[in-house]
Amino acid sequence: MLKVNDNYQKLPGSYLFSTIAKKVAAYSEANPEKRIIRLGIGDVTQPLAPAIIEALHRAVDEMGAAETFHGYAPDLGYEFLRNAIADNDYKARGCDISADEIFVSDGAKSDSGNIQELFSADARIAVCDPVYPVYVDSNVMAGRTGTYDEKTGMWSDVIYMPCTMENDFVPEFPRETPDVIYLCLPNNPTGTTITKTQLQEWVDYANKNGALIIYDGAYEAYISEEDVAHSIYECEGARTCAIEIKSFSKNAGFTGVRLGYTVVPRELSYGGVSLHGMWARRHGTKFNGAPYIIQRAGEAVYSKEGKAQLKQQVAYYMNNAKVILEGLKEAGYTVFGGVNAPYIWLKTPGNMGSWEFFD
Ligand code: PLP
Repeated sequence: MLKVNDNYQKLPGSYLFSTIAKKVAAYSEANPEKRIIRLGIGDVTQPLAPAIIEALHRAVDEMGAAETFHGYAPDLGYEFLRNAIADNDYKARGCDISADEIFVSDGAKSDSGNIQELFSADARIAVCDPVYPVYVDSNVMAGRTGTYDEKTGMWSDVIYMPCTMENDFVPEFPRETPDVIYLCLPNNPTGTTITKTQLQEWVDYANKNGALIIYDGAYEAYISEEDVAHSIYECEGARTCAIEIKSFSKNAGFTGVRLGYTVVPRELSYGGVSLHGMWARRHGTKFNGAPYIIQRAGEAVYSKEGKAQLKQQVAYYMNNAKVILEGLKEAGYTVFGGVNAPYIWLKTPGNMGSWEFFD
């Protein structure tokens, strides 16, 4: 008889956002007259920008003519998109990243979940606490996290780096050296981030200890402060210790369209094995590319019109964040974030737990 992957049985409850959706649905069914302000999952609400819609229409028409039809996309993504990413997200910021180090995908969630396949079963992972749940859960599925303690909500084999009000939400170097360090900056869910100088310290730490940083920059477009890096490759030495994962969901509203990319520099190797080669092999074997139409839409994100329209969209979300931040402050809450990310982190009153507060 088939034996299932037991690691799935270890996962506590359902995925965080499914629980939120279920609770909200039950509440609105019981209280149909109540208007609900949803402060749970960070989905976008604005329609796709006109420049993106135009690119989508053009690409759809191309797919309807034999001369311009596109089938399977190249493994790493179309060159027009990888060049636009390399020029705008990296070269324009002085980062030494070339198009052939960029792997286009269907989003940052898949990449951040899949990347752990490259590591050995006993690799020790470190995560900020709190953080986007996918990093830990995908490692639980792979059997890398040990046992779960229901009381603390922590795994025995995960190294947690607390990010709290007390340490200004800046993770400290762990006592035990990890093999893989997940950094999500600006952070989901706290909305806080660290300075470029502090990030440089993490890059130096990783290089010194032979650790790999998985840098999730999904909220990069929301950075407003000068001394915050837009890419980990702005730091010296990051090419030998960091993979960067990016999404088109938050800067361009692609949550329902699906597009992202991962940067794996060619220098990145452990025990003489190139992670670039491994990720290319995985991509070629398990992924058949993001759709041509969507990659054309992604290219439009970097057009002059696209950039101007998306700047306004990001400003709209940041204004929402400001309204929430100031409203909660006026209501007497202690709140963080909302400056370099659209998220607000709230200190629950008294010793109330977060689910208790939610309910
Ligand atoms: N990474 C972080 C930190 C996120 O908060 C999210 C979405 O909430 C994602 C990745 C998912 O991005 P995508 O829509 O590209 O899969």
